[in-house]
Amino acid sequence: MDATVAIRNERPAGQRAVAKRPLKPVAERVLIIGLDGATFDVLDPLLDAGYMPQFKRFMDGGVAGVLHSTQPPITPAAWTTFMTGKGPGRHGILDFEKYDAPTHTLTFNSTYEIREKTLWQLLSEKGLRVGSINVPMTYPPKPVNGFMISGFETPSINAQFAWPAELKEEILHVVPNYSYRTNWRRRALGGAGVLAENLDYIAHSFDQGLALTRYCGDKFGWDVLMVVFKLVDNLQHKAWKYLDPQTNGRYPAQREMAGRCFTRLDNVLGELFAYAERNAATVVIMSDHGHGSLDGKAQPNLLLSQWGYLSLGSGWEQAATRAAGWLHRLTKGRMTRFEQGNRGIERELAVDWTRTRACVMHAGIYGYLYINLKGRGPHGIVPPEDYDRLRDELIERLRAEQAAHPDGRVTPVFPQVHKTEELYGCSREANPGLPDLLLAPYPGLAVARKIRGGKAVRWCRGSRLEGTHREEGILAVGGPNVRCGARVDANIIDITPTVLAALGLRVPVDMEGQVIRQAFTVEPVVEQEPPLEKVAASAVEAYSEEDRRVLERRLSDLGYLE
Ligand SMILES: [Zn+2]
Repeated sequence: MDATVAIRNERPAGQRAVAKRPLKPVAERVLIIGLDGATFDVLDPLLDAGYMPQFKRFMDGGVAGVLHSTQPPITPAAWTTFMTGKGPGRHGILDFEKYDAPTHTLTFNSTYEIREKTLWQLLSEKGLRVGSINVPMTYPPKPVNGFMISGFETPSINAQFAWPAELKEEILHVVPNYSYRTNWRRRALGGAGVLAENLDYIAHSFDQGLALTRYCGDKFGWDVLMVVFKLVDNLQHKAWKYLDPQTNGRYPAQREMAGRCFTRLDNVLGELFAYAERNAATVVIMSDHGHGSLDGKAQPNLLLSQWGYLSLGSGWEQAATRAAGWLHRLTKGRMTRFEQGNRGIERELAVDWTRTRACVMHAGIYGYLYINLKGRGPHGIVPPEDYDRLRDELIERLRAEQAAHPDGRVTPVFPQVHKTEELYGCSREANPGLPDLLLAPYPGLAVARKIRGGKAVRWCRGSRLEGTHREEGILAVGGPNVRCGARVDANIIDITPTVLAALGLRVPVDMEGQVIRQAFTVEPVVEQEPPLEKVAASAVEAYSEEDRRVLERRLSDLGYLE
């Protein structure tokens, strides 16, 4: 108890939260620890084998369970759903990229595209003090009552990644080698030396997250403090075969090295638990989605082209497009797909838009399909009266498509094909930019936009086994008033309403999640308040061309942009 008092007294008096809590709180403060992409499929065996003693103790003393992700279970959609307590149909973030049909261009999403208020803005307005460290979809950072250090979609340390702005120089001074580099060195899957280097880089990022949390938490004071360890996800993408109990028996040395990387994470968690205890905070550990093996890439644009919905240019045109791409690369460096609008799409596919009725314009786990509707974009050819029929026809054909796995199983390629507005329960009129269809691939498949070879699924070779996302993430809660040893499953959309209710705050009536009451020994009082105002649309472009180039390389490296 003495330690708690001492730490609070060190803080300048003006920085302590004095906000009134209208309801009786069950949590004085909340520390949220995000483990991007974490899954119990990896963690359980590590916990059982003693690689993560601190996390094990934490789980035994609190509640834990599966945290279901968004559809699609992809980083930007999932973390934004967490931050807003609302689904992608409301906040507008479905993928890293966004296709704008009227201008026929692709852009990267940033905080400017989030149409709903976030937990940080909401708590700030209520007078609580917040700190957010490396949460994805927080670049550029927005003003809050506290501080914000943006996430991995920050182009580089040259960008303005902190709020307040002067915090940036301080971070670069306090945290040596602070970086947004996530690239996994490619020879990693070959030599043990390079693997060790990559793992060390990742573990070092965990240490940096801890240093930032304690330093900024103490400097600014906090009621809700959050840090995300993003490279847990990168580690799983790149080293899945060393982590998956089904395959890692073949690689005992690498399995041990990857396990030790999680032990370094566990040391950091132990320090964070102690920090939370000193500050009498409830701890929430969460991931944005789970992880599993990447078995293959589904190629919907190949199917659309074979079925006559998508028309590729002639062989000559395709060769010319490729040659232009190479020429550009030789003279001006690698061309991003964002340069000059859709030229990237053209380079990959050489689409003849005058004869194309439907195309998957971007892909991130799911495929985002747009119908080339007359009147919506510059090349529209599908008459509006044909829209419904064409969409139903595409759903039927895509759902019926099957693939034989290398192990002989035959499964659908796209078990779910959603009309986006139906999936999210929103109106198309209010959200004209939504994709017409969302293609959810069979678990283990990731959707690709480009076409390689002539099969609907390009299977991955077992020797190159990498990871991809699954819907089942993790949740663990511990601290004052938290039940002991219970299993509690929830959805990522439930976290923000739960944090609000636990802090003794009312929950905006338009939040779509539920308060996770069963996590607590004392039921939080749940009262609603009027809906939040929408965030005004902004036409600001967050990324420069050079930023986009950097970001595209980072995301391509993880296999998100293909
Ligand atoms: Zn993620």
